[in-house]
Order: sequence, then structure tokens, then C-alpha cells
Amino acid sequence: MTVADFIDLASDTKTRPTAAMRAAMAAAEVGDERAHEDPSVNRLLERCAALLGKEAAVFLPSGTMANEIALAVHCRPGDAVLCDATSHLIGFEGGGPAALAGVMIEPIAGRRGIFDASALRAAIRADVPHAPRQRLVVAEQTSNLGGGAVWPRATLDEVAATAHEARLATHMDGARLLNACIASGVAAAEHARGWDSVWIDFSKGLGAPGGAVLAGTRAFCDEAFRIKLRWGGAMRQSGIIAAACEYALDHHVERLAEDHANARRFAGLIAGAAGITIAADDVQTNLVYFDVEAGGAGAFVAALQARGVRMVAMGPSRVRAVTHLDVDAGAIERAAAVVRALCEEKRRNAS
Ligand SMILES: *Cc1c(COP(=O)(O)O)cnc(C)c1O
Repeated sequence: MTVADFIDLASDTKTRPTAAMRAAMAAAEVGDERAHEDPSVNRLLERCAALLGKEAAVFLPSGTMANEIALAVHCRPGDAVLCDATSHLIGFEGGGPAALAGVMIEPIAGRRGIFDASALRAAIRADVPHAPRQRLVVAEQTSNLGGGAVWPRATLDEVAATAHEARLATHMDGARLLNACIASGVAAAEHARGWDSVWIDFSKGLGAPGGAVLAGTRAFCDEAFRIKLRWGGAMRQSGIIAAACEYALDHHVERLAEDHANARRFAGLIAGAAGITIAADDVQTNLVYFDVEAGGAGAFVAALQARGVRMVAMGPSRVRAVTHLDVDAGAIERAAAVVRALCEEKRRNAS
């Protein structure tokens, strides 16, 4: 098997910059970003602030830093953050909320990573000195562990309004916000309307080698920049990366529809394979989650890997496959055929 035959569905972070993206990077005009002198970064920030409907924006190395800085700007140590129990910031950011902003998390049990205004209302309590001060509500659009589910615009609006009535700030983890926009036909600024801060990731489905942009009011972004600097996230000629991000905005947004179609196609092709449980109709964007037999996810992904297809075990029996820029419809069909063959082999061996 050559490298080219290997089909990597582990994550949409596995994309490599295309030749055209690399050319845009090589041609980027650059300056000292830390002194706000990088023209490519400045242009990207203006574009992203407009895209997200916010006053200002900050360029960051990663989405994780965007979440962690947002928590630190919105909250003081000891404050509580309300978010869905499956949130990325709980399970995948190295304990950052506790270690960096010093906040506690109060998880809300949503459905597929999405909770509604009544669930939030039930979680909000009176401000009493013996309880942690509730300060921030977070929504993840799309929900990663929720299977790429898209928060409906109305739910986002109602949750944000409920938060604001209770004087809580709102933050949107928009790692895959543009996937939600393409899937729903609703513009990014509309999704983000009620959210005080929001960010998008360029290293996921957009296919850039790095970069995230966090947006909010001018005052929020000034403070976010201060923390970015304090935490060592201020860069120098990062216009090289911003050029890749801008290239992605120009060329890799509309095509997310292909990733979504491929994800649905993949889900449809493996539904009905022996031993696989999947709600194929739930696939809305580029993340496909399915279950194999109890406790079998680790062995399943190892067997797939040996056959040239990579997915990840996300739980004892849960497997995730992600479609992206570097896998076309043909690769998806081959990957689905490998899954079906493996399931058939397991079924025969078991009988
Ligand atoms: C990937 C991801 C992040 C973190 O982004 P990085 O750029 O990988 O640091 C945050 N939230 C969600 C929902 C993600 O999927």
C-alpha cells in the first residue's frame, strides 16, 4: 500500500495544504504581527470580523487557544461555565479551563451536543455567595461529539437571549461553524448574532496548516490580545499562515458541501453492515459516528488501519470517521467497502 492509497478519516485536521494554498503562502506580504504590522493578518482579521458580524478579531495559532482565551476574558477564577456535557473544552483541551482561566464547568445534558433555553434556565441559579458565580454559556457549532449536529438558529438565539437575561456572557466554539453555515444555508454572522465571542478554525475542514480567528467587541479583542501575548501566542510574520487562511476562505468554504455529501454517502454505505449501528439520517455535516459491538471500537479501528483506512475510537464501542478536503467520493466508496468487508469477515468468523 502506498501513502496515496491510505485513506485517513481520523479527522478533518489531517488535510495537507494544497499546492495553490502553498503558493498563496509563499507570496504573502508579511510584517510583525505582534505589533499589528502584518498586512496579511490584518486583512484576514477584517474579513473574519465582517464574516462573523463582530467589531474586531484576533489571530491565534489554534482553536484551543481561542476557547481558553475566551474563558479567561469572560470569567474570573472560581467562576462557572455552562456548556454541553460533551463539549470539546471539557474533554480535549488538557484541562485548560481549570489550569488557565481557573473556571469550573457546569455541564448541561443536551441532545447530540445541543441544549435548549429551558435546559439552560433549569441550570441557572440565583447568585449566592456559597455557589460558584455562573458567568458564561458556551455553544459548540457544530457539536463534535454530538456527531456534527448543527444548532438550529432559533435555539442559538433563544439560548443566548436566556443567558443574557441572566447576565451571563455567551461564547461560541465555532471550530466547524462554516460547516454549519453550508449545511443550514444560514450565514455565520446570523449564527453568531447573540454570541458575545465566536471563533472559527482554519485547520479543520478549511484545510489550512493552522490558525484560528476569535472575534467579539473591540474591548473583548483588546483583552484577548493581551492574554494571547501573555500566554506566548503572539507571533511575528504569521501572515504566511494568514495567507493560507485567506486562501481557504476564498476556495474551501463552498466545497464543504462535498464533505457533507461524502459523509452522508459513507453513512449510507455502511448502514446495514453486520455489527454496525448508525443513525445515518442524523449525519448533517462532515462527522460520522457509529457503534460497533460492545467494547470493540479499539480492535475495529486497528483492523481498519491494517487495511489502509484510519478512523478513531471515541469510546468503548464508538467510532468516528470524518470527511475532508483530502478524501474524494472514490476514496469514500473504497473506505466503505473496507468497512463492509471487515464486518463480513467478523460475522463469518463468529458463526
Ligand atoms: C478541534 C476543535 C477545537 C480545538 O481546535 P484546535 O485548532 O485543534 O486547537 C475546539 N473545539 C472543537 C469543537 C473542535 O473540534
